Amino acid sequence: MILLSVGVKAEVELAKSAGLEIGATGGVKTNGRMESSDPDIYAVGDAAETMHALTGARARIALAGPANRQGRIAGANTAGAKLTYSGALGTSIVRVLNMTVGFTGLNSAQATKAGFSFFTSLTRDHSHAHYYPGATPVMIKLVVEEGTGRLLGAQVLGEQGIDKRVDVFATAIAGKMTVDDLENLDLAYAPPFGSANDPVNTAGFVAGHIARGDISTVAPETWQPDGEFLLDVRDADEVAELGRLNGAVNIPLGELRDRLGEVPHDRRIVAYCQKGQRGYLAACLLRGRGFENTANLRGGYLQARLNGW
Ligand SMILES: Cc1cc2nc3c(=O)[nH]c(=O)nc-3n(C[C@H](O)[C@H](O)[C@H](O)COP(=O)(O)OP(=O)(O)OC[C@H]3O[C@@H](n4cnc5c(N)ncnc54)[C@H](O)[C@@H]3O)c2cc1C
Repeated sequence: MILLSVGVKAEVELAKSAGLEIGATGGVKTNGRMESSDPDIYAVGDAAETMHALTGARARIALAGPANRQGRIAGANTAGAKLTYSGALGTSIVRVLNMTVGFTGLNSAQATKAGFSFFTSLTRDHSHAHYYPGATPVMIKLVVEEGTGRLLGAQVLGEQGIDKRVDVFATAIAGKMTVDDLENLDLAYAPPFGSANDPVNTAGFVAGHIARGDISTVAPETWQPDGEFLLDVRDADEVAELGRLNGAVNIPLGELRDRLGEVPHDRRIVAYCQKGQRGYLAACLLRGRGFENTANLRGGYLQARLNGW
């Protein structure tokens, strides 16, 4: 199957022939009241250029939610109201076969283009309590502003429970929340619906650790091994079944305390596991035992493989 995502172009011939100003994005330029350059003519929806709610940049976001809210504002304003549109985050969701992918705010490329200094975090969790039947994996990538910890964007992938996580992240971005706030969000939990630590909380924990500098991490999409000691802390049967990264030494997390003599002091140590949590624990353990230069590989072995390692 081939999916062609060719984008959406605004049809603005009518607006042009009426002498309305067309913005740099190709849409009919509007102000917050949804007025075009002629205050007696309003523009909304796919053909209108509005603004991105997070960056404030001029934007044309061709989605039904923004179109409907803009229409409501324009309609009310034509009747004398004074409503203002605050922009869109581009929150969107799509199902492809049994997979769902949701998105809100900025991705890495957009954050770079907008001039943000940022880091990303990656977490893999379950759609609901792992011991309750039917749980499936949920993968979350956060884009977080360096220094402030403010959430800039989120991408969520999996089979179930994607919509509610994306909507929580969209609300968090709209509320200018930080990853510390995500750690403490009090979200609904019973085993069929979520976990005592919801995937949103877990994403906040990991991003919070990175933001506060609690632990050094390396991102598989940007980091290339350069003489570090690559420590695989998964169990031996996992390594035998799934393979390991080139040059990695396997010391299972449960044996690490007793096998510290096998870990060198003269090199940086990059620990990894399957998804990231045990690698994080290993890096903490090593740091507590005097190995100053340790890091955790974000997203673990699974992410490294996805990045072509
Ligand atoms: C296949 C598909 C799936 C989509 N799925 C989603 C989704 O799941 N979620 C989401 O958020 N967005 C989705 N969208 C996008 C969403 O439909 C649009 O963003 C939204 O409809 C834009 O609203 P609008 O009022 O600007 O334009 P439209 O809804 O396209 O309305 C424009 C109207 O103007 C009429 N018109 C055009 N020219 C003239 C003319 N000369 N004279 C009189 N009338 C005219 C058209 O017939 C149409 O009725 C989807 C779009 C497509 C094509």
